[in-house]
Amino acid sequence: PAPVICIDGPTASGKGTVATLVAQRLGFALLDSGALYRIAGLAASRAGIALQADQADRIAALIATLHIVFAPDQRVLLNGEDISLAIRTEEAGMNASRVSAFPAVRQALLQWQRDFRRLPGLVADGRDMGTVIFPDAPLKVFLSASAECRAQRRFKQLIDKGLSANMHDLLADLQARDARDTQRSASPLQPAEDALHWDNNAERTVEQAVQQVLSWWQQ
Ligand code: C5P
Repeated sequence: PAPVICIDGPTASGKGTVATLVAQRLGFALLDSGALYRIAGLAASRAGIALQADQADRIAALIATLHIVFAPDQRVLLNGEDISLAIRTEEAGMNASRVSAFPAVRQALLQWQRDFRRLPGLVADGRDMGTVIFPDAPLKVFLSASAECRAQRRFKQLIDKGLSANMHDLLADLQARDARDTQRSASPLQPAEDALHWDNNAERTVEQAVQQVLSWWQQ
């Protein structure tokens, strides 16, 4: 099977940026698994389904009907509509976090994620890439950073996009998401036993993280 590099870690740990750059440098495909949960949350709330555990089977059934395209130009299409921006809001992140706690939803997205695997290789970013989706991956990386550092990073991203942001709310949001990610019974966020750890705190640059992953890959 094609090799997979898993990059897991909590919200705003910098996984997405590192995964995108590593994939580019190696000419590998990229799986942004968080985007799938964001799409599931968006589709469910648009369909008027409450994002509650007793609705999980309905959400899973809805997921099976969705037509999702990750275009080469980075756009994400849902049933033909460009939803690239709609899935990036804080609200979309919260909705994703809610639906991702339901085992039926995780199951509905499982094969979808595995189908991204292709030659010459795949970089997969998420929470459970190394533990559940690609347990046989030859390289698993776990990124960590303090909640304050991650909130700061999110703050900058939002301001750079011209959006308003408030550190207090961002930090509270992040802590709520961390709690849900680590406490859910279905594939909670935890490093794979064979994961290599990288502390992605503020004093480290994106390029250092990318170089470390590439050097692990070449070993
Ligand atoms: O990484 P991102 O912020 O886009 O993920 C959105 C939400 O989806 C996260 O808060 C997390 O709860 C969930 N998620 C997950 N498993 C993954 C990727 C994301 O549960 N593999």
